Amino acid sequence: MTIHDVEHISCPKCNEETFRRLDIHNNHILWKCKRCSYTETEKLFPIRKKVIYLDQFVYSLFLKSSKKEDKWKKLGDKLNELIEDQIIVCPYSTIHQTETEFYKTYFTELTKLYRKYSLGIEFNHPFEIEQHQLIHSLNNFLYKKESSAYKPIWRHGIEKDPHQWASRLSLFVNININLSEINRAEKLKKETCKKIQKRYDEIYKEEMKSFNKDYDIEKGFLAEVIISNHRKNEELTRDIMLGNRPMEAYFELLNDHVEWMLPQINASGEKNSNPFNILIEFLSSEEFYQTPYVRIWAYLFAALDQKVRASGRRAQEGDYYDIRAISNFLPYCDVMIIDNEFRGLLEERGAPLTMEFDTLIISGKTLDSLYNHFAKWIASTDTDKIRDVYNNLDRDSFF
Ligand SMILES: [Zn+2]
Repeated sequence: MTIHDVEHISCPKCNEETFRRLDIHNNHILWKCKRCSYTETEKLFPIRKKVIYLDQFVYSLFLKSSKKEDKWKKLGDKLNELIEDQIIVCPYSTIHQTETEFYKTYFTELTKLYRKYSLGIEFNHPFEIEQHQLIHSLNNFLYKKESSAYKPIWRHGIEKDPHQWASRLSLFVNININLSEINRAEKLKKETCKKIQKRYDEIYKEEMKSFNKDYDIEKGFLAEVIISNHRKNEELTRDIMLGNRPMEAYFELLNDHVEWMLPQINASGEKNSNPFNILIEFLSSEEFYQTPYVRIWAYLFAALDQKVRASGRRAQEGDYYDIRAISNFLPYCDVMIIDNEFRGLLEERGAPLTMEFDTLIISGKTLDSLYNHFAKWIASTDTDKIRDVYNNLDRDSFF
C-alpha cells in the first residue's frame, strides 16, 4: 500500500473493495474496512514543521480583522493555509496572556482560533521550561565538566510533538483556557507594572550606565526571585501548620525551583557542604547566568533600562508578561510575531539572541518580510504529496 493508491482497495481480511483511509493518528494513516471493520496502520513519511509563536495581540487582531481586508486578515489566512499543508504550527499559551475581560468576551472565538492555529499543541508552562534549562546549568555547575551550551529540544518547550501529522481529531481537541489563572496573572500584571515603574523612577535619576552593566544587574534579579519565592513558600507553609492560615492557602504556593534543586545538589555527593550554600553559589555563577531564559530576560530588561535612562520610557502593563513569554519560548520557535518595540530591542546590538537560537523575530512593521520565508518553506515542501494524504481520507465517515 502506498498513499497514492485509489481510495478504496480490497480489504486484506474480507477481500471486498471497501478498505479505505479513515484518519491520521500518531503519524500513521489509519485504514479501516467499511464492511468488516478490519483496521491497519501505515506509517507516514516524517515532516518537520516551523514553530511560530503568536503574541496575544495577533489573536485579537485576527478576531477584529475577520471581516475586513487588511494585513492581519491576510496573515491569518496564509497561516491557516500553511497549517493545512503541515508546514507550520502555532502552539498556544494562556499562561502569560492576561486580559481577563478579553478572554471572557471572546472565549468561544478564541478557543476556535487556538484550535485552528495550534492543532491543540500548547507551550509548556514557563516553570517547566525554566526547570529543563536550569537542570542543564546546574549539572554544568555541579560536575564542572567542560560547560556545554544548552541545546533547545522541542520537548522542553512544547508539550506535544509539534512535528506530527495533524489528525482530523485536532478539530475537536480540548483547548484549556484557564480563566482563574488569567485572573490571577492580570492582578499580578498591574502590581508588577507599578513596581517596575518605581524602579524606573530611580534608574532615570541615576547616572548613565552601560548596557553590559545593566545586563549584569538584571541577571542577578532572577536569582533573587528564585530565593524569594522559596522563602515566601516556607513562611506560608509554616503559617498553615501553625493554624494562622487556612489549608486553602496552599493554593497560593509559588513555583519553587529550590525545592527540586536541593535534592539534585544532595545527590551530587557534596556531603561536606550545606546544599543551600551550594545553591546560592550556583545562583551567582556563570553557569546560572548562561541559562537561556535568564539571559534573554536580563537582556530585554537591560535594553529597557537603557531606554529609561536615555528617554524616560514608562513601564507598560504588558512588559513583564511579554518578556516572560519571549524569554521562555524564544529558543523553541522558528518565528515569533511580537510587538514592534520588543522586536526592536531584540534586533539592537547585532541581535545576538535571535542569531544564537536562529529565531526570526517579526512584528507588524516587518510583516511583509515573512512572506519571503513562507515562499522558501513552501518551495522546500512536497505539498502535493501532503495534500494527497488528506484528500484521500474518507471524508464521509468519521468512525
Ligand atoms: Zn473487510
